[in-house]
Amino acid sequence: MDKNLELSKLKNSILKFNKNFPGKNLVFSDGNKDAKVMIIGEAPGRTEDKLQKPFVGRAGKLLDNLLQSINLNRSKVYITNVVNYRPDKNRKPTADEINEFKKLLFRHIEIICPKCILLLGATAASAVLNHVGPLSVVRGKWKKIKIINSYFDILTTFHPAFLLRQSEQKKYALKDLLKFKKKL
Ligand code: URA
Repeated sequence: MDKNLELSKLKNSILKFNKNFPGKNLVFSDGNKDAKVMIIGEAPGRTEDKLQKPFVGRAGKLLDNLLQSINLNRSKVYITNVVNYRPDKNRKPTADEINEFKKLLFRHIEIICPKCILLLGATAASAVLNHVGPLSVVRGKWKKIKIINSYFDILTTFHPAFLLRQSEQKKYALKDLLKFKKKL
């Protein structure tokens, strides 16, 4: 498969959703398309919209630090979000938006074909695992999930924006990351 070609086709499909997010930029991905690790967040914030890259604001700095703790950095991971445009006023994506972007996200996963996927927070868990309810039910647990035609190993942890508000939870996120590293 020509990954560059497939990614650019996917990007063009996502560009059509721009009409639902007037004035917002497409925030497609960052990192290495050939990485073994794919990381999925929720949706871009203000800084991400401005710079057109995921996780480049305060939560992104924390994500970089967490990744560093297991010897990973952006050259070794591929990062995207469930929703590729910034929802107005930083609201959470709606269930309809998650559903709509889910098909595109699944194609994104299929193209990247990572060894392991790290989900950040409830929106990513809802889109990929169909999980509803408290994050604690799925957090820190490996799941093997079929996406389109292949199975992927997937671990969920806290969203870094949540960890900025609740820093005492960081120790659990670090534990999750060690578990993630072990599988790699
Ligand atoms: N939060 C996310 O979920 N994604 C980003 O890209 C930035 C903040």
